[in-house]
Amino acid sequence: MKKYLKNILAATMILSMTTALAACGGSAPADNNEDANADGAENSGKQKLVLATSADFPPYEFYEGGEVVGIDVEVAKAIADKLGYELEIQDMIFDSIIPSIVSGKADIGMAGMTVTEDRLESVDFTDSYATGIQSIIVKEGSPITSVDDLLAEGANNKVGVQTTTTGDTYTTADIEKKGLGTVERYNKGTDAIEALKAGKVDCVVIDNEPAKKFVESNEGLQILDTEYTIENYAIALAKDSELTEPINKALTELIEDGTVQSIVDKYITAE
Ligand code: GLN
Repeated sequence: MKKYLKNILAATMILSMTTALAACGGSAPADNNEDANADGAENSGKQKLVLATSADFPPYEFYEGGEVVGIDVEVAKAIADKLGYELEIQDMIFDSIIPSIVSGKADIGMAGMTVTEDRLESVDFTDSYATGIQSIIVKEGSPITSVDDLLAEGANNKVGVQTTTTGDTYTTADIEKKGLGTVERYNKGTDAIEALKAGKVDCVVIDNEPAKKFVESNEGLQILDTEYTIENYAIALAKDSELTEPINKALTELIEDGTVQSIVDKYITAE
């Protein structure tokens, strides 16, 4: 099963690169200077680059002192600076990010977003800037000790996920559709964690870095050692957006000059 998923992901990655390379021409940044809920310098005279995110996903995007911060936000700011845009952040539930890009309300989507074939049907992705791993969080002492326990014949668990994330997609296919349990979908990762603490679900499947943060800030939870699957994070844009090429160029420069790594190091301490 894991091998199968990895193959899909490898194929997806190649597809995303091809899409990114092929993309040029298309729409200009969203015309959003009117109803700006600007983050940062207003009236800078710069054109806005609107970032759709879901700020409930530490360390990639979360609130700190009333402000949205995190790896994605800082990478987006660095890209906007390089390209001469002013970054505007729009916070929404994860499920709304792709629709907001498709409708042109936002220019880019960053939320630890995994490149998947399904999403590539509605948006394009830049090159990948990070990887994520789907992890399993359980209550300490849970009878679930590995992915295999979730997938074993006769298993019957309630799995909590954030709606429409890859954790949702995989567990729906591997568990719910196979009659090995049910998937409970929550708008936010933190709601899934609360459900786990309250005993409404038996485990939560979510990306590894947020999983670590959630376990740090909630007693009695643990992450299982076994990984579910490995994924590539990238920036989502409208199909054929004229921004894909300059953003890929900026991203490559920011990766090569160490900026992206220094942002990651600020938020993720090496083990
Ligand atoms: N990486 C996962 C996905 O893209 C989860 C992202 C998130 O919850 N912000 O579906």
